[in-house]
Amino acid sequence: MGIDRREFIRIAGLSTLLGLGGRGAWELLFPGQLEAAFLAEPTVLKGQRWAMVVDMTKLDDATAKLCIAACHRVHNVPDFTNPVNPKDKVLPEDKVRWEVKWIWTDHFHNAFPGADQEVMAEKVAHLNFLLLCNHCDNPPCVRVCPTKATFRRDDGIVMMDMHRCIGCRFCMAGCPFGARSFNWRDPRPFVKEVYQDFPTREIGVVEKCNFCAERLARGQLPACVEASRGTLLFGDLADPKSSVRTALKTYFTIRRKPYLGTNPQVYYIV
Ligand code: SF4
Repeated sequence: MGIDRREFIRIAGLSTLLGLGGRGAWELLFPGQLEAAFLAEPTVLKGQRWAMVVDMTKLDDATAKLCIAACHRVHNVPDFTNPVNPKDKVLPEDKVRWEVKWIWTDHFHNAFPGADQEVMAEKVAHLNFLLLCNHCDNPPCVRVCPTKATFRRDDGIVMMDMHRCIGCRFCMAGCPFGARSFNWRDPRPFVKEVYQDFPTREIGVVEKCNFCAERLARGQLPACVEASRGTLLFGDLADPKSSVRTALKTYFTIRRKPYLGTNPQVYYIV
């Protein structure tokens, strides 16, 4: 997101004036604005260790849908529920098999197996958690890729290079979070409106969330964060002043399957 410094100063000044600290301050600032405003190079968002915090105490289903729609729109993720060619019938079972998703929702007991209990807070048990690639610090998907089509950048983003992907799907087997999708068929006819700033994919390659690396390079926050009405925070965990760092210090958060040792970088306030 391009940062208007005058707007930042106005909001920051207002925060100070009101004596807001912790959560109150970041409710006035869009997630990431604080760190972005201090970047020496305003057109690129730089981080040493990107992370996301999802505030499940605020995220409702309607907002989750906005996040998913925003992500899938700017990444040309095909939607098999809406075939462009009416003759190209899509049966429900095919839809499930072909589904490509970068970000989606699921219930607590599916998202956090092992963390659920026989009796637990109903509110949490019935929440639809927003799920995506965790950009693990120790990603098994990267280790098993034979062509280095998937790799971890120095800033923590786990990337995919579609040109090197040979479609072996080892990474899908290696990912314990179901964060990767395979293009079983040509996805292009199922992209409603091609977003020109991001490439479409071909049949036979794996894809997943990239923490909007292409948007960070343009100084923009991830699309899901922008659409999240302040319920998603994104920032540099290495920066003690970042919103994500402050959130983790302030609120109790959980991560998916921490016992596997992949060290996910998506955190959930519950
Ligand atoms: Fe890899 Fe899965 Fe971790 Fe994403 S969530 S980095 S795809 S292991």
